[in-house]
Amino acid sequence: IDLAHPSAEQSSPELAPLVSRLQQQNQTIRQQMDALSRQQREFNALTDNMSEGFLLVDSRTDVLSSNHSALYFLGGGEAKPLNNLRRDGCPQQVMSAVEAALAGVRTETVQEIDGISWQIIANPVVSSGQVAGAALLMMDVTEKEQREFLRKEFSANVSHELKTPLTSISGFAELMKEGMVPPDKVKEFAGDIYRESQRLIELVNDIIRLSRLDENDRVEEIEPVDLYDLSDEILANLRPVAERQHVTMTLEGDHAKVQGVWQILNEMVYNLCDNAIKYNRPNGTVRVKVEQKRSEARITVSDTGIGIPYADQNRVFERFYRVDKSHSKASGGTGLGLSIVKHAVQLHRGTIALQSEPGKGTCIRVCFPAK
Ligand code: ADP
Repeated sequence: IDLAHPSAEQSSPELAPLVSRLQQQNQTIRQQMDALSRQQREFNALTDNMSEGFLLVDSRTDVLSSNHSALYFLGGGEAKPLNNLRRDGCPQQVMSAVEAALAGVRTETVQEIDGISWQIIANPVVSSGQVAGAALLMMDVTEKEQREFLRKEFSANVSHELKTPLTSISGFAELMKEGMVPPDKVKEFAGDIYRESQRLIELVNDIIRLSRLDENDRVEEIEPVDLYDLSDEILANLRPVAERQHVTMTLEGDHAKVQGVWQILNEMVYNLCDNAIKYNRPNGTVRVKVEQKRSEARITVSDTGIGIPYADQNRVFERFYRVDKSHSKASGGTGLGLSIVKHAVQLHRGTIALQSEPGKGTCIRVCFPAK
């Protein structure tokens, strides 16, 4: 009889009970196989859709189970099949982590491959008191590492920026305290102290603004903000500054509305206009244009000022970046204005474009998607 497909009609009557048992057993086996392959499919679907890499090896480093991300990572950006870690070659740090796990020690390392930082966690797999293999988890932690790097760089910059004016203030005050400043110079020294402390206040205010923008979880009121009315108000506030610099300001366009946080949009437009005045030339102009297009609201601030050298154009949005430190210092810049602008734009899911010609002027355009 055909054992895989036993049939009662084809065999003699005395074999009937046996055939029926065989039929039952075959049925059970089929069900179990189906269940197993369903479980395997579920497991594969689960692990293959993980962006984390997952790998299970036995004590001889034979690969028992792996997912796409793990093979992609171990293959250096190409998912190649892998039978044995030691024989088929894998990055040295991964091998060391596996070997440590096979010796019973859990390890965690971060390794950079092709500009991506991977966190590798290797755990021993213990069965009846013995290490039977190792389980590896690999995670892309590039963003976290970059944030950490920026945070460290920012703290270093902040300390440096705060120290400079404080050192001056302390120096001037010490001279005065020691009576080393002739009476007719006291006013000048007090003026220096005042100027430096104003700069400190401005710096601290900008840092507070930036860190507020960094806190993503704060709840703020989202409301329709009319960019035209906002600009009108800001230009009115900046008029005395512009007059002092002999700069003319104009506003044109439509009442374009953005769903956003008024305070943040206000700081954004203020910083753009403030820069356009600060880095202008006598008798220059600042032109603000607000437009409502079908799919977006736009604000463009253009000036006829000193412009930004091509080499610096990509960098001016970085924190504390200034093209000309001495000029910025004289005009009271902190190097944080445009990074606040960039942050504000990102927060409102907008885009920012800078166009500048040294000696001619600068034009910055921010576009927000219509609500
Ligand atoms: P700051 O407080 O120094 O103005 P920002 O972050 O606002 O800092 O700007 C960074 C640098 O970019 C400035 O120091 C300046 O050199 C340059 N910059 C910004 N806006 C303009 C502009 N409209 N025209 C020329 N240069 C500009």
